[in-house]
Amino acid sequence: AAGLMAGKRGLIMGLANDKSIAWGIARACANAGAELAFSYQGEALKKRVDPLAAQLGSDIVLPCDVSDADSIDTLFSDLGQRWDGLDFIVHAVAFSDKTQLRGRYLDTTRDNFLTSMDISVFSFTAVMQRAEKMMSPGGAALTLTYYGAEKVMPHYNMMGVAKAALEASVKYLAEDLGKDGIRVNAISAGPIKTLAASGIGDFRYIMKWNELNSPLRRNVTTEDVGNSALYLLSDLGGGVTGEVLHVDAGYHVVGMKAVDAPDI
Ligand code: NAD
Repeated sequence: AAGLMAGKRGLIMGLANDKSIAWGIARACANAGAELAFSYQGEALKKRVDPLAAQLGSDIVLPCDVSDADSIDTLFSDLGQRWDGLDFIVHAVAFSDKTQLRGRYLDTTRDNFLTSMDISVFSFTAVMQRAEKMMSPGGAALTLTYYGAEKVMPHYNMMGVAKAALEASVKYLAEDLGKDGIRVNAISAGPIKTLAASGIGDFRYIMKWNELNSPLRRNVTTEDVGNSALYLLSDLGGGVTGEVLHVDAGYHVVGMKAVDAPDI
């Protein structure tokens, strides 16, 4: 893929550490020649993100809390000081109260419902409202979703409802921005052990289940997600928008666990 992203500038949102899906995507894009900028949430993360950005040759590391409109405005005005355009954007941001990522969806509080929807769903739209002004035809945006949007997965609860709304917003954004030649897609990633995922109840068991029952009989890596992201973010994906691409070792196509049937 060397050179595939040469001359393209991209903003990566949601890098927390080297386990982050954003890191897999950033590495794939940088290896393909892209120039990158990063946004991080909160001062505590800056010291982790700075060296990772430097590893990929980037010194553009800017704060942004997506729950704060002013903070998103500041991010884009700061980015505009450095770059006169933006070719792609990666939104790898989500949040839900982890005490509610177990137990029943039915027990979701109004506060957590609204916060989860704000940070995990509206933020993508809010970011695209600003990004649109810096992007030109050929631009691409990508967000991250999970199978829990489509089917009930244990403990995913409010995040499943939020991801369903996020996937719907990908389609509406694809229509609105398609007129400007900007593509909007999502990757539905299989379970990966990241900081955010560690908040989900029984996550180790969910990963094991996925490994045993997906067609490829393994879990995906952030590198797998990065490589598929490269397709959607580069001109290789030029005809693709409004799509949710499953990078999940095929888990979403399985209707029944593969077992040796008992004699009945
Ligand atoms: P991660 O913890 O590495 O990344 C989550 C990021 O969200 C962090 O960088 C965090 O700082 C950021 N964030 C949270 N609230 C924010 C706010 N208010 N403002 C700005 N940033 C904020 O975990 P990850 O698993 O790499 O998550 C990235 C995306 O991938 C998320 O959308 C997640 O739902 C999605 N996803 C993860 C998995 C998985 O199994 N790990 C599977 C499918 C989809």
